[in-house]
Amino acid sequence: AKAFDVESVRADFPVLQRRLQDKRLIYLDSAASAQKPQAVIDAEMDCYRRYYANVHRGLHTLSQECTREFEAARSKAKEFINAPDSREIIFVRGTTEAINLVASSFLAPRLEPGDEILITHLEHHSNIVPWQLLEQRCGAKLRVVPINDQGEIELDSVAELMNERTKLVSVSHVSNTLGTVNPVSDIVTMAKGRGIPVLVDGAQAAPHLPIDVQQLEADFYAFSGHKVYGPTGIGVLYGRYDLLAQMQPYQGGGDMIKRVSFGGTEFAEPPARFEAGTPNIAGAIGLGAAIDYLNSFDRRQVAEHEEALLEYAVERIAQIEGVSLIGKPDKRAGAISFVMAGPHPNDVAMLLDEQGIAVRAGHHCTQPLMESYGVPATVRASVGLYNGYEDIDQLVVGLGKISRMFANIQ
Ligand code: PMP
Repeated sequence: AKAFDVESVRADFPVLQRRLQDKRLIYLDSAASAQKPQAVIDAEMDCYRRYYANVHRGLHTLSQECTREFEAARSKAKEFINAPDSREIIFVRGTTEAINLVASSFLAPRLEPGDEILITHLEHHSNIVPWQLLEQRCGAKLRVVPINDQGEIELDSVAELMNERTKLVSVSHVSNTLGTVNPVSDIVTMAKGRGIPVLVDGAQAAPHLPIDVQQLEADFYAFSGHKVYGPTGIGVLYGRYDLLAQMQPYQGGGDMIKRVSFGGTEFAEPPARFEAGTPNIAGAIGLGAAIDYLNSFDRRQVAEHEEALLEYAVERIAQIEGVSLIGKPDKRAGAISFVMAGPHPNDVAMLLDEQGIAVRAGHHCTQPLMESYGVPATVRASVGLYNGYEDIDQLVVGLGKISRMFANIQ
């Protein structure tokens, strides 16, 4: 692995060479979507330029080459999360589609009225709404593990809410709003002890932490390509093969069948069974390149850098007059959230943008979490492997200006 050096990493990302308001762009919105290194852009372009064709059915050279690259990307995704078998890697549009797939194909057919689905209070809407749809469709009930003031899940509460009616536990590995690293391993152990399957939403973990689904023993694990420096419109659902083999298709169409007749259709084995239609071929290949890019570094070193950066940000931002951090998790990855005494989070984000700093303001698709903190919105600063201490320093300078501006008004 290359030695990790932020300056040279930044040089790999064309968009980060842009200047805004005559200043170097400071991108602190990777939790919404990460920027793309040249290697990912090249891989996708190379596919269209040199060997693009539809995959799986073609006998001609281009189709065979393209199929090989597409399937190589699947193997890279398998290695990335240490899945035992490439057949357990389903290409989807992203985490949202992965969760909906599990809801429709795995859970819905197993639900009786009164059965329960267990989630937590800090989930992204995409790990809430698909289950609410099943409440309507199947008469299931959503149970929600509360969080403490620090923004953490307490295992006692998880244990209390698991019972013989619990048919799935679905929990995020890392909170997109607070950055909390959840004790997913303990939760999986607790669920397994009771025979309950577990889905882990890894959208915010995959960019920051090494993922090992075998060690974790999760039944399903989902992540999005665009958050791991890959293209949009591609993501991965990992599912244990024995479960996938029992599941009904998610959508019907081409490429997911063995044989079709009007007398009856036989479905293909996983993963093809869950990949109806022409997939996002170039996107998958781009995701493979993103995984190669991440693997070119010592991932532990990257994680340590990002962790230290967030710790530094927490320390410095907390000292700014009028700033309150939202959530103080012991273990954090990717993001911090805060509010300011005078300005609305949207004002803060706009005023930072004027200084060339990109952060996000809003509910971050976690409205129930906002409600539990009694705020309509927060400002979120999130980091990627291209952020350095000077980015945080600039953010602190920017927030200081805003703080003084509003102190003068009051
Ligand atoms: N879960 C979490 C924790 C997320 O942060 C996101 C993306 N913001 C999603 C799910 C949904 O991912 P996508 O929009 O890529 O489907």
